[in-house]
Amino acid sequence: MNEQEGRAMSPVSSSSDIATPSRTKEIIARHGFQLKKSLGQNFLIDRNMLNKIVDAAELDKSCGALEIGPGIGALTERLAREAGKAVAVEIDQRLLPILHETLAPYDNVSIVHGDVLKLDLAAGFAEWFAGLSRVSVVANLPYYITTPILMKLLEARLPLANIVVMIQKEVAERMAARPGGKEYGSLSVAVQYYCEPELVAIVPHTVFVPQPNVDSAVIRLRVRRTPPVAVEDEALFFDVVQASFAQRRKTLANNLLSRFFAKGQREALETLLQGVGIEPSRRGETLSLEEFARLSDALGRHLRGAGGER
Ligand code: SAM
Repeated sequence: MNEQEGRAMSPVSSSSDIATPSRTKEIIARHGFQLKKSLGQNFLIDRNMLNKIVDAAELDKSCGALEIGPGIGALTERLAREAGKAVAVEIDQRLLPILHETLAPYDNVSIVHGDVLKLDLAAGFAEWFAGLSRVSVVANLPYYITTPILMKLLEARLPLANIVVMIQKEVAERMAARPGGKEYGSLSVAVQYYCEPELVAIVPHTVFVPQPNVDSAVIRLRVRRTPPVAVEDEALFFDVVQASFAQRRKTLANNLLSRFFAKGQREALETLLQGVGIEPSRRGETLSLEEFARLSDALGRHLRGAGGER
């Protein structure tokens, strides 16, 4: 099937899709493939769920799609149909012959064998997606490394339009959490610094083979061109955020004191906090991104003035 024939049959799904319970089981059995729990191998077998994921990525033929962990290719074939090019990074060598077979009908798919955490993604992007107008990451992520993968994508400042991923529901809720609740933490601040998160769907266990024992959700992260707050020292900003949530039962002042100040400097810290309009008795989980930015800029000036580490 060439690209035009595929789209003529159906733009989204077709009766020969990989993501049906019977076809997935047949492919796995025919190849004698044993799923590895340690690699987070829970394959999608529900075409409606795939439609939701692919729709959320807002792809067209001018776009590239990067998938992390194609498995046997259920999502990859959707990306091949909807995007101009799909690149899928898979760590498990045993899946390569299967992918070669299931994705044979598509000439716009490349499979890269490797560990996504070790790949030079910036160099890969330049090579894989040259000439395309924008790129999305679309994936049903291996849950055991969700946060390292997303932080790697965001910190590399790749030229991404959006990231649409299936992840553990609890992690999705933490990413999208607003200040004041127990889900709000350093992950929420980091993700919201780089992106605008939006929960797309809560996902039942029944869409996977085998069924995971945690709840899942699809989240869309629209990648910001510039962060919502300007900070003088980004590394210090993230350091302050980490320190503020280090012990959630402690006040902000106590957490910051143990990380940035010598004993006996409580007064200096309290003056600094009050100077940027933050009560020292507050807890980290109540601070907005703007407040963390004000705080880290003031702390940076204080540390430089005190001949501190920055
Ligand atoms: N996309 C497929 C689907 O939805 O049916 C499979 C998703 S499965 C949850 C996660 C996939 O990520 C598996 O194929 C697994 O082998 C792969 N994987 C796990 N760790 C990886 C890593 N570090 N780098 C690349 N792929 C990885």
